Amino acid sequence: MADRRIVIVGGGFSGTALAVHLLRNGASGLKVTVIEPREQLARGVAYGTQDPAHRINVPAERMQLSAAEEGDFDRWYRTTEAFNEDTAARWHDGKVYPQRGQFGVYIAEQLSRAAASSPVELTHVREPAVALEGDTVITASGQRYQADEVVLAISHPPPALPGALEALKDHPAVIANPWEVDALDRVAEQDRVAIIGSGLTMSDVVASLNRLGHQGPVVAFSRRGQLPRPNLGGSFEPRPLNYQQQQASTARGWLRRVRQEVAQAAEQNLPWQLVLDDIRLHGQQLWQQLSLNEQRRFLRHLRPWWDVHRYRIAPQVSAVIEQLHSEGRLQLQAARLLSAKAEGNALRLTLQPRGGEPKILLVDKLVVTTGPAHGTLLKTDALLNQLATQGLIQADPLALGIAVNADSQTLNLDNEANPHLYVVGPSARGRFGELMGLPQVAEHAETVARQLLDIHASQPVERCPTSPKIF
Ligand SMILES: Cc1cc2nc3c(=O)[nH]c(=O)nc-3n(C[C@H](O)[C@H](O)[C@H](O)COP(=O)(O)OP(=O)(O)OC[C@H]3O[C@@H](n4cnc5c(N)ncnc54)[C@H](O)[C@@H]3O)c2cc1C
Repeated sequence: MADRRIVIVGGGFSGTALAVHLLRNGASGLKVTVIEPREQLARGVAYGTQDPAHRINVPAERMQLSAAEEGDFDRWYRTTEAFNEDTAARWHDGKVYPQRGQFGVYIAEQLSRAAASSPVELTHVREPAVALEGDTVITASGQRYQADEVVLAISHPPPALPGALEALKDHPAVIANPWEVDALDRVAEQDRVAIIGSGLTMSDVVASLNRLGHQGPVVAFSRRGQLPRPNLGGSFEPRPLNYQQQQASTARGWLRRVRQEVAQAAEQNLPWQLVLDDIRLHGQQLWQQLSLNEQRRFLRHLRPWWDVHRYRIAPQVSAVIEQLHSEGRLQLQAARLLSAKAEGNALRLTLQPRGGEPKILLVDKLVVTTGPAHGTLLKTDALLNQLATQGLIQADPLALGIAVNADSQTLNLDNEANPHLYVVGPSARGRFGELMGLPQVAEHAETVARQLLDIHASQPVERCPTSPKIF
């Protein structure tokens, strides 16, 4: 039988998890190539950080490669040197919140282990893919990789620069991409720092500044000035909602239901987190029951609230934020940036507070933490841009990522599914809904692996025509 070739573009968590499942379950003759410019697979944006202040935002026991391996990362981590050295990872309730890079180490180890005992061949190509011609992926250096199936595992572009900062993008006070290694080394000990955005990346930045010994004032601002909520300490039984009762079919109906559930939980002295956790667990099913209009309404009106309750932060990071806040070194403001002007090496920002008069803020550094610019992914990534320009893929109608069908196959501009071109990971969440946190991304990777292996088991090899109509 001829070889089968699967090319995975992107070797962050999603692409690597897919590769692990293909290696574990694939047969000989299958060749898996992961095209990923980073030196190491399994890191990506989330787990590539080397900053010890960046922690996973749920206890280790909730991070795994597959639902069948619940608790495996936690068990693995507790046997490592890192666990012995990082005493801060252990929280009072006995749970551990390792540094994020540790999860990358764990997944890379799972990959090596799977590769060592698999008949499937694995290759890591260390450069970006820039084009797809016919059935061949082309890398930046011009290398060509023919594929039977290509899987796009590209999720998090860097934050976009707000319009008011466009003219200042090369100014030394602007830190446009806080994910770059050593991005914060430019911040001097007494610098006045502003942070635009108040979500998880802001929390990472505040934790990093604190670790680096920064002593100056920090002002974090976002339109609503909402902070991500801390995770729940202690152990609670899950509190399943009754999904048999008639379901709300609108975003507003779900808001009402969640409020009722939270109030009922409070009457039983149970925290709201249990309600949100259960909704999140059923998030994909609930999302797909909403019409496109209601999904839009959810994103427009409820998303900011959902995000701060659903994306929580590790208690260690929360403690840093609380401490700096109580010492008056960190201020949080509900405001938007009206304009920014250079004043020598500093910046003069004009902020429009919610319901107040514009005010001026003079800062030495401004860090952009508005989160990944998912809405522009199909423009900023060279490969995706080429595919979108040729009409071979399109953004999903909510601009959360790439449009796919229920089998994670991409849809072209005529909404035809391409059985040779898949998406794995958060870029498919326009279709599936909740597909950002590890458990759901891991499950998605496992499902796509199963689909690809099923095709291989049931179909004779048939090379893709080189016509760009297919690819
Ligand atoms: C900062 C951050 C922290 C998070 N923390 C947590 C957490 O604590 N717990 C949790 O449950 N979830 C967390 N998440 C969510 C979650 O784990 C991620 O969504 C998940 O890791 C997605 O990984 P990915 O591989 O799909 O995407 P990415 O991490 O974006 O990886 C994509 C990879 O593709 C590569 N790439 C991009 N373009 C190309 C190209 N053209 N050619 C080749 N390669 C390319 C990139 O180099 C990158 O390595 C976090 C997410 C982020 C962004």
